[in-house]
Amino acid sequence: MSEIYNKGLLIVISGPSGAGKGTVCKELMKKYNYNISISATTRSPREGEVDGVNYHFLDKKSFEEKLSRDEFLEYAQVYGNYYGTLKKGVEDELNKGNNIILEIDIQGTLQVQKVYKNAVYIFLLPPSINELKNRILKRGSETESSFNLRFSSVGEELKYMNSYDYAVINDDLDSAVEKVHSIINTEMNRISRMNLDKFLEEYIF
Ligand code: ADP
Ligand code: 5GP
Repeated sequence: MSEIYNKGLLIVISGPSGAGKGTVCKELMKKYNYNISISATTRSPREGEVDGVNYHFLDKKSFEEKLSRDEFLEYAQVYGNYYGTLKKGVEDELNKGNNIILEIDIQGTLQVQKVYKNAVYIFLLPPSINELKNRILKRGSETESSFNLRFSSVGEELKYMNSYDYAVINDDLDSAVEKVHSIINTEMNRISRMNLDKFLEEYIF
């Protein structure tokens, strides 16, 4: 990262289950090499999910041990399981000047907002409630009760949208990815985020 940035930019992406957060983040990583923070969770891996790639899959005891050692930047119980962001990975990346994306729920976002006032907060929306339902079902990852839990939380989750800076509707995947990418690019050009003193030195004579 250029020396006009003291630190990397923290980006938070939230939205209802099935909105496409994971899919959008994966594309951002593939296409533009974004860093996506790997959360810890007590949820069981879905088919194809790999420990240390999709999540750090922990049992409840290990998660609670990390909690008691204050290793989490934020954590929450979401749909009946613990999820949390480990401080170290995020702080290391930001200190190296690298941007990093957190894909976390609303409760976690409210905690992060207390620490990172300058982060960029993006809420991802599905194009319709029907499409949201189709997407969760299409993913084929949920039991009937976990589907009901996720689907019935949508109304409550949407109430918190105003805590975010941007809303992106994930209708066409490529356009949603481009929108998120351009939001991040725009935010990086804020004067308040830059360290321009050195750059401006040669103009002062
Ligand atoms: P989330 O991480 O928000 O829970 P996922 O990324 O797992 O959601 O996406 C849920 C399902 O919807 C997946 O099957 C994914 O392939 C599909 N999906 C995501 N984005 C789109 C899109 N723009 N158009 C169609 N299907 C999508
Ligand atoms: P899933 O089980 O579908 O992967 O994720 C369920 C929910 O947990 C999603 O809303 C997702 O954003 C959220 N989540 C994933 N990782 C974290 C995390 O580290 N912290 C918090 N607070 N929520 C998370």
